[in-house]
This record gives sequence, C-alpha cells and structure tokens, in this order.
Amino acid sequence: MELQQNLSLVHEKIQRAAESAGKNAQNITLVAVSKTVDVDKIQQAIDLGVTDLGENRPQELKRKSEAIAASVNWHQIGQLQTNKVKYVVDRAVLIHSLDRVGLAEEIERQCVKKNIVASCLIQVNIGREPNKSGIMMETMDDFLKELSAFPHVKVKGLMTVPPIMENSQKQREYFRQMHQEFERLKQWEDKNVRMEYLSMGMSDDYVEAILEGANMVRVGSAIFGARNYHI
Ligand SMILES: *Cc1c(COP(=O)(O)O)cnc(C)c1O
Repeated sequence: MELQQNLSLVHEKIQRAAESAGKNAQNITLVAVSKTVDVDKIQQAIDLGVTDLGENRPQELKRKSEAIAASVNWHQIGQLQTNKVKYVVDRAVLIHSLDRVGLAEEIERQCVKKNIVASCLIQVNIGREPNKSGIMMETMDDFLKELSAFPHVKVKGLMTVPPIMENSQKQREYFRQMHQEFERLKQWEDKNVRMEYLSMGMSDDYVEAILEGANMVRVGSAIFGARNYHI
C-alpha cells in the first residue's frame, strides 16, 4: 500500500515537473533504485508498473536479475570496479558510471568476449568533490576521444550526483551546467557517441533535475522508503 502511494506521488511529481519544463512525462525514465531492497518488494514494484531498476552493487544486480523473471531494465549505477564488470556487462541496459579509461577498456574486453555492446553514461563530478567519482567537466573532450579506441562501448549520455546543497538554486546551477554540456555534446562527431540520456536527480532533487533538463531520474528512498544503512 505504501509502495503504491509512494510510486503514485513520484509519478505525479514527475508529471508536473515535466509539464513545467515543457516536456512529455513519458519521455522521462524513472529508474527505481532498489539497492538494499529485497526481491519480494522489488517484485511488488514491478507489479505496480516499474520497468527500470537501479542497483549499485554488481553482484546484487546479477543476483536480483536472475531471481526476478519479469523482463525489466536493470541499470548499474554508482562506482563500478573493473573486476566486477563481468557481472553486469550483459545484464545492465545501461551502465551509469563510466568514469575512467581503464573501466572502458575492461567493458570493451568483456563485450568482445560475449559479442555484445555496452551502453554507458559518462559520470561527471560536477561539484569537483575530492571523494566523489566522475570525470571533471574540462576533461570531457579528451575522455571522449580516448573512448573511441573502444568500439563496443557506446556512450549514450551523461550522469551526475551533485553535491548536497542547502541552497536549491546552487543545486540547480549544477544541473543546468550538466544540461548545457549534454546539449553541446549532441554535436560530437563519433558514431559511438550519441547523447540520449541525461541521468540526474535522486529522491531529494528529481523535480529540480527535471526542471533543468534531466530525462532520467534515479529515485530510491522516495519509492521504497528509507534504507536502514547507507551504501
Ligand atoms: C542510492 C542512489 C540513488 C538513489 O538515492 P535516493 O536518495 O534513495 O533516491 C541514486 N543514484 C545513485 C548513484 C545512488 O547510489
């Protein structure tokens, strides 16, 4: 019951934010972040219409995607260690956290082995936070050029987790910068780069993110309730 109410509220807020941004809410993908959530509850969410699920631990993504029969889109969000790529490369529709050349190299290697391609988002450290992963914005062009060495790695957009801000205007400024970069890179000439998804906004800020141009939001606790522990 609570899950249903939470989901309705999130959909309603996405709808309103999309309208304010002059967009069709159907073009905004809601990724329900199910980290720490058990399979039964995830199944309930699927029964309520959830189509996209996000996990931050590769082995959990593997385990849950094998336990759940429904055909849903699994997203790998959050830091991805090179030695864990093998668990997600053929299970995730999108890897949201491509942030270094070494990771692209391993994704390429696993893709060649399995004869597949992997769709990825480039994670940007928009707030330049020392402890956060993601590339710095000014290195974007060089990074994209380096990725052209990996033809099985398809860049489909950008992702960010901005700094936690008291001031939502400042927060929106980060989202705005991401959107500008996303629009700029639509002109990038490389057949392996195609800007389709701008993944930003979590439980506390997905409305602001949509108002600034996000077309993919990653919402966990606002759907599944507060997590007992933070990961
Ligand atoms: C946990 C997580 C989310 C969802 O966070 P909530 O605040 O629970 O909505 C989104 N993105 C990433 C990368 C996460 O790790």
